[in-house]
Amino acid sequence: MIRYYSTRDPHKNPVRFEEALLKGLAPDGGLYVPDQIPRLEPALWQQARSIADVGVAVLGAWLKDEMPLADLEPILREALNFPCPLVKLSDDLYVLELFHGPTLSFKDFGARTMARLMQYFLRKRGERRIILVATSGDTGSAVADGFAGQDNIEVVLLYPKGKVSAVQERQLITRRPGVRSFAVEGSFDDCQRMVKEAFVDPELAHLPLSSANSINIGRLLPQALYYLWAARQLPAERVNFCVPSGNLGNLMGGVLAAWMGQPVHKFIAAHNANHFFPDFLQGKAEAYGFHPTIATLSNAMDVGSPSNFERLYTLLGAEKLRAWVWGTTVSNEATLSRMKQTYDAYGYIACPHTAVGLEAQARYREATGDPTPLVSLACAHPAKFPDAVSQALGQEPPTEEALQILYSRPTQVETIGPTLAALKAHLL
Ligand SMILES: *Cc1c(COP(=O)(O)O)cnc(C)c1O
Repeated sequence: MIRYYSTRDPHKNPVRFEEALLKGLAPDGGLYVPDQIPRLEPALWQQARSIADVGVAVLGAWLKDEMPLADLEPILREALNFPCPLVKLSDDLYVLELFHGPTLSFKDFGARTMARLMQYFLRKRGERRIILVATSGDTGSAVADGFAGQDNIEVVLLYPKGKVSAVQERQLITRRPGVRSFAVEGSFDDCQRMVKEAFVDPELAHLPLSSANSINIGRLLPQALYYLWAARQLPAERVNFCVPSGNLGNLMGGVLAAWMGQPVHKFIAAHNANHFFPDFLQGKAEAYGFHPTIATLSNAMDVGSPSNFERLYTLLGAEKLRAWVWGTTVSNEATLSRMKQTYDAYGYIACPHTAVGLEAQARYREATGDPTPLVSLACAHPAKFPDAVSQALGQEPPTEEALQILYSRPTQVETIGPTLAALKAHLL
């Protein structure tokens, strides 16, 4: 049976998936990591006809001691009910579009799956939860949408006021059953800190708090699936993946996919001006230190201290990470110019996050000459970022029906200061 232990537990006391999922963060403040990774036959995903098929085959193996496949399968078919196309830009460059879910970012994969898994285990236990989420843009809406309307789960969203795009904000404050949104007068790091403090605050100890940030193992596992789904559609066996990164949850999903048996030659970690991880990979930042967050055009990647670093470091160690992952940091100017180049060369409109990835993969190829086919992840729909798209291309992206419907919905939001006390006043 696969079990999960905390990155900070020297004794590696393991818990079941159900507990790691419902807890989110380990009681010692560490992150849960699996004590083994099942080695799976690539035939499992090579035969899949949809990403939901990949999910049933792969998560069926991961969770076989946790729940019957007959219960898991409908959960995955409902959660992963949107397309995930691999778009060919050139003979050796592909874009995997992860933005066709309801909130138009890759976060829908993890959030929708995790919401349904949590609901399943909570029902079994007759328990409820309050999910506290700090979001720099896309997590909150995916979580709010994924969890809304479930009788045993409430959602409390914190986002940095004025630091998300207009469309993202609208998605965050759309009124949904069981969801409360707070605009925090501070940064994303303030929001994350408030969530962390809430979890260890004695006055809140009686509340059934849980997290849904990318630290939750329940979000990481579904994020391995689309790597396998992409590889299944490629002519080559070995592949490079370029991952626009912030908290490194997406990259963690890719590492799990590789460990399950998908040959991955290199990962490219594409970061914006928040350069902690590329620095680490280049040997410039030895220890995990706090970096203040820098606001950029690719705001869902504005993370000074990536929380999943601790997990990657625990599982892989510095040497392996540096050998396997190539990283670079991309400025706003380079992001905009890559959006323009991508449009001119391929007629393809990339959102700023996707463009950070496309710029990084171009640099990687330039630096190494590596001919391995490369899949660059497209993390959000360009229609979510009309300002950046018009700045780069001189034209707005085509509108998306899902977004137009948004603007006709009622909203709900309260503004609070960047302190635990302010949050507590509302929770208690
Ligand atoms: C969350 C997000 C990222 C960063 O993903 P991490 O898992 O935090 O590394 C990149 N792009 C978009 C659009 C996102 O929403």
